[in-house]
Amino acid sequence: MATAQKKSGFYFYLTIIFSIGVLAYSVWLIFNSVISYEQGQTGEFYYGLILGAIGVGLSVSSLSTMRRRMQTIKTKELKNFTVEYCEKCYFKKLREFKVGDYVYKKIGACPQCKEELLISQIYSEYPKK
Ligand SMILES: [Zn+2]
Repeated sequence: MATAQKKSGFYFYLTIIFSIGVLAYSVWLIFNSVISYEQGQTGEFYYGLILGAIGVGLSVSSLSTMRRRMQTIKTKELKNFTVEYCEKCYFKKLREFKVGDYVYKKIGACPQCKEELLISQIYSEYPKK
């Protein structure tokens, strides 16, 4: 399971690096064709421009697909939890993490002894299957 995830992550980064490489090469092609246009070689100009435009289009679309996939992986795999804790009566409650949570944040009265309830821990976990 863990190794499979690592492997797919490797291919994932390889695709990103490859796309960035294609993007860089395409930009270089366009740049070169502009130079050849200035030198009067219009044939090479159009050739480089079309090839470069195709390359930019391909790499940008594959990068945006990767970005979307990365976001779904993030939301799918990790779950964040917050532990609420009362220092007086040792009441403990686990709940899902909410934006704005931080350790030692005071979150109100303890349901058992009415003392201050604090956040004692925040952690991430892969959901159990
Ligand atoms: Zn308490």
